[in-house]
Amino acid sequence: GKGNWKGFDERDLLLTYNALKVLEARYLLKDPNTLRYIETPQMMFRRVAKHLANVERQYGRSEGEVKQLEEKFYKIMSELKFLPNTPTLMNSGTRLGILSACFVIPVRDSMITPNGEGIYDALRAMAVVHQQGGGTGFDFSELRPKGDIVASTAGVASGPVSFMRIFDVSTDVVKQGGKRRGANMGVMHVWHPDIEEFIKAKTGQLKDTQLQNFNISVGVYDYFMQAVERGDVVPLINPRKTKITDWDYYMSKARGYMNEEWIQEVILSELEEKGGTVDLAESKIITIDEALVIAEKENAITQWVNARNLFDEIVKGAWDSGDPGLLFIDTINRRHPVWYLGKINATNPCGEEPLLPWESCNLGSINLEKFVVDGKIDWDGLAETIRYAVRLLDNVIDANRYPLKQIEEATKKTRKVGLGVMGLARMLIKLGIPYDSVDAVYLSYQLAKFIYYHAFKESIEIAKEKGSFPAYDPKLYKDIWESAKDFYEILEIMGIKDKPSDYVKKLTSIVDRLDFDKLKEDRIKYGLRNATVVSVAPTGTISIIAGTSSSIEPLFALAFIRNVAVGKFMEIDPLFLDYLRKYELDNPEVVKKIAETGMIGDNPFMPKSMRKVFRTAHEVSPEYHLLHQAAWQQWNDSGTSKTINLRSEEPPETVERVYMLAWKLGIKGVTVYRDKSKSQQVIYFGIKK
Ligand code: UDP
Repeated sequence: GKGNWKGFDERDLLLTYNALKVLEARYLLKDPNTLRYIETPQMMFRRVAKHLANVERQYGRSEGEVKQLEEKFYKIMSELKFLPNTPTLMNSGTRLGILSACFVIPVRDSMITPNGEGIYDALRAMAVVHQQGGGTGFDFSELRPKGDIVASTAGVASGPVSFMRIFDVSTDVVKQGGKRRGANMGVMHVWHPDIEEFIKAKTGQLKDTQLQNFNISVGVYDYFMQAVERGDVVPLINPRKTKITDWDYYMSKARGYMNEEWIQEVILSELEEKGGTVDLAESKIITIDEALVIAEKENAITQWVNARNLFDEIVKGAWDSGDPGLLFIDTINRRHPVWYLGKINATNPCGEEPLLPWESCNLGSINLEKFVVDGKIDWDGLAETIRYAVRLLDNVIDANRYPLKQIEEATKKTRKVGLGVMGLARMLIKLGIPYDSVDAVYLSYQLAKFIYYHAFKESIEIAKEKGSFPAYDPKLYKDIWESAKDFYEILEIMGIKDKPSDYVKKLTSIVDRLDFDKLKEDRIKYGLRNATVVSVAPTGTISIIAGTSSSIEPLFALAFIRNVAVGKFMEIDPLFLDYLRKYELDNPEVVKKIAETGMIGDNPFMPKSMRKVFRTAHEVSPEYHLLHQAAWQQWNDSGTSKTINLRSEEPPETVERVYMLAWKLGIKGVTVYRDKSKSQQVIYFGIKK
């Protein structure tokens, strides 16, 4: 029941100690004059629910309907079944208007440009986004290389990496909403002449010193990965010198995601619209070889380098420091549902949102752990939560106050939202399925498919009421399930012979009955509200608030120290503690001993079943990390953020294998992190270091 005071609700008791600490430090509103809290956690959920339900008034909903929706939004958040990303929780209903976490800002090869896309325009855009809690991604490949000429001053260009340092320093200075520091993704495509400097920008002597507010990723293409396999040479291209202004765009057209058939469709629909003719010669479809011939004539090729050597440098850097990661630009664009709007060159900081220039996306995640009931999955409850979550995320787009006109335009054109998950590891533990098993990967695959289906279905429902996203084209829109790899194909790529058990097949059999053909029919008939609907985010903070494991990651450790801005926490996993109690092993001596390493995998005194189920991030092989990422990526129209955690003793060859396999598995981006490879890391395993 309700307590005596306004705002009191026993649902606050669902929050863990760590959740309360994070909420009080950064989320709960304070009176700026007295610094006293002016809300409780429930009041925060209420503030968000109200703000986002209010949007419905714009669409002519009655008072009663708005109130009803507010209750639904409040319910899924307060029961910790779903949480929107941090900016939505922090800023809804406040003076700060940004509710989205993910942005991509273009950077053209000019100081400033009339339409606000030059280097210093991008810097300014970054500052305003960071100020309110958003993360930003940039592709720096259009900038002319170091040492190239600058005509206006007869000077020498300092190159993309030097400009990145300015973005980095600015990030240091501007704290996000005064509450956290901004995060960035810096991308350079593999054909850029400065690629070697970029690859080494955060490793060796520069590790832990340079570009600390950046994750960096090399944008690679199928042609490059194939050249690595064959030991071929690849060209480096000066972007300033080529008339093919977006050089890789032509290359990637040639790689197939703008294949002849689609081009025909585009041209045909253009013809229909204009009622005229389209000059095929003007449509600029050229093959990679033709592009090379032109580049050669233009003197744009600065060098031919061995792809293998370049790849080895990337691998060495990632092994040494975690950077650079890879972005598979062909995979990203091939599976981009609204591919006809342009080419994606970059993602947000953690990789879950490949976005077009100026696009932003808001995220939210379902807490899977909450949907295990009596050893079964509550599919109906899950479907219902997905429905309200998608509606809430779509309303975020209307409730958002965009800091720049370009961001508002690009975002409202596609209305991308990203529904993801957290608590997968804990769901698996509750079901007694080890994370590193074929059954677990099968469950991931089926869950991803189920969530995608229902999120997409809801987006169609909303389109019926409110209309499709403006850039929706029923003919050109590409349904990503048509290119999803089959589960068994994924196993085959990894060379795994085991098959999922009857138990897990039965547990998820509801998913096999989903009708995607009907879904497509409905999409064509009624439209679609959002160009993308799902995205697997890291849930770094919201998983703490929900008191569950983050994203689709395995447990980090059964006991560990967490370093966050507000202090150090020692944590023992509560599910683990439950098990210890069951076996009467919950005495302080045992717990203390386990906390020294954080894991029990090779502890002979622990029950075997426990040792199997409580596998932590470093005990899980890189293959199983990849398998989960691949499973979730198949049923995802955006990206899947995942860290492939490696033990500190893993050799560079492991990174090489992981990066190659990631490409073959159809993953959009990959990052490794070898334990202890950086001096600063958020989580240390075990209490003893
Ligand atoms: N992000 C950011 N700064 C941070 C953490 C996250 O800008 O310190 C952005 C970034 O774009 C990231 C996204 O938020 O990819 C989602 O991260 P996460 O799921 O960890 O955020 P949460 O909602 O849990 O805070």
